[in-house]
Amino acid sequence: MNQATSTPSDPKAASDKVNLLDFDRQGLRDFFAQLGEKPYRAEQVMKWIYHRLEDDFGKMTDVGKALRAKLEASCYVGPPKTLFDRAAADGTHKWLLGMDGGNAIEAVYIPEPTRGTLCVSSQVGCGLNCQFCSTATQGFNRNLAASEVIGQMWVAAKHLGNVTHQNRRITNVVMMGMGEPLLNFDNVVTAMSLMRDDLGFGLASKRVTLSTAGLVPMIDKLSETIDVSLAVSLHAANDELRTELVPLNKRYPIAELMGACLRWIERRPRTSITFEYTLMKGVNDQPEHAKQLIKLMRKLPTGSAKVNLIPFNPFPGTRFERSDADTIRAFQTLLLNANVLTMLRRTRGDDIDAACGQLKGQVLDRTRRQAEFRKRLDQGQGVVHAS
Ligand code: SAH
Repeated sequence: MNQATSTPSDPKAASDKVNLLDFDRQGLRDFFAQLGEKPYRAEQVMKWIYHRLEDDFGKMTDVGKALRAKLEASCYVGPPKTLFDRAAADGTHKWLLGMDGGNAIEAVYIPEPTRGTLCVSSQVGCGLNCQFCSTATQGFNRNLAASEVIGQMWVAAKHLGNVTHQNRRITNVVMMGMGEPLLNFDNVVTAMSLMRDDLGFGLASKRVTLSTAGLVPMIDKLSETIDVSLAVSLHAANDELRTELVPLNKRYPIAELMGACLRWIERRPRTSITFEYTLMKGVNDQPEHAKQLIKLMRKLPTGSAKVNLIPFNPFPGTRFERSDADTIRAFQTLLLNANVLTMLRRTRGDDIDAACGQLKGQVLDRTRRQAEFRKRLDQGQGVVHAS
C-alpha cells in the first residue's frame, strides 16, 4: 500500500452519506431494511467489507446492479486515511491515521512467532492524565467513531494482507492505544463486536482485549454487553501510589476496582484478567511493591489473574525512568515464586516510538510530518512511506 489512496478532503466523507463501518451486523441489517432491502443482503456486503477488505461497491460482484447503485447513492465504506505508515526493525508496524480537523491517531501491529497483535486507539488524546503516559500530555480531543476504531483494523488488515512475502495476520486486538476505551463505550463496543463477528474479523473472545485504567461501573456494564477479554492498568497495589500515577484511582480506589474484577470473573469463571503493571525506576518496582501486588492478586480466584509487567517506555519530558533489568527480574521472580502468573512484556517497536505510552511522540511531530507528506504529494510522489 504505502500510498496516499485519497486526499484528506475525501469527497466520500464530505458528503452526507452513511459510513457502513459505523454499523455492527444488526445496525447494517437495520440500515438495509431502511433501504427496502432484505437483511441477508447486509450480510453479503459485510463479508465483502471484512473478509475481502473491499471498499468499492462496484467490485462486489454478487451484489445486484440495482442494489449497488442504491448503495453508492446512500453510503460508503470509509476507513481512516493513512497519512504515514512505518515499519520498525523488529517488524512492528505503525500507521498514522488522519481524522477530521487535522487530528491523527495511531494503530500499531506487533508480530510474534505465533501471533500478530494489533494495538488500537479509542480516542484522540485522553483525559485521564496518567502521569507516566505520553498520550496524557496531549489532553483529550474527542471520541473516535466506531468506523474510526474498526477502520484501524481494516486499514492494517488490508495493508498486511498485501505483504505477500510474509505471513502477517492479525490474530489479536488490544484496545491499548490512545485513549480510555470505556469512556467511548458504545462506539468501542460496536467496533469490538465487528472484531468478534464471524462476518467481521471473526476473532475469539480471548483475542479481543479491552484495557482500562479502571472505570468501575463501565467494567460491570462491559461484562453485561459483550464477550471480550479485560485488562486493567494497575501499576501500583496501594491507593496512595496508584492515585499519584493514575488519578482515576481517587474516584475508583483499588478495593472497588478489585470488586469489579471479582464480579467480572464470577460472570466468566473460565477466563482471566490481565493486570498491567508498568515498572518505573524507584517508583513502583521495589520488593515491597511486589509483595503488595501479590497480596492483591490473592483476592482473585486462583488462575484468574495474570500480571503483565511492562518496562516503562520513556518519552520526551517525562520525569520517570525505566527500571533496571535486574530490578525487573527480581520483581518478576518474587511474583512467580508466589505463584502469580506473570509475563514480562518485551518492548517492541521503540525505534519508531510505537511502544506502549509512546504514541504521543508521533502526534507531537505530526505537523512536521504532515508538511513533509504534503510536500511529497505536491512533488507528485504518491508514496508516503516514512521509513
Ligand atoms: N486507557 C487504557 C488504554 C491505554 S494505555 C488503559 O489505561 O488501560 C495501554 C497500556 O500502556 C496501559 O497499561 C498503560 O498504563 C500503559 N502505558 C502507558 N504509558 C506507558 C509508558 N510510558 N510505558 C509503558 N507503558 C505505558
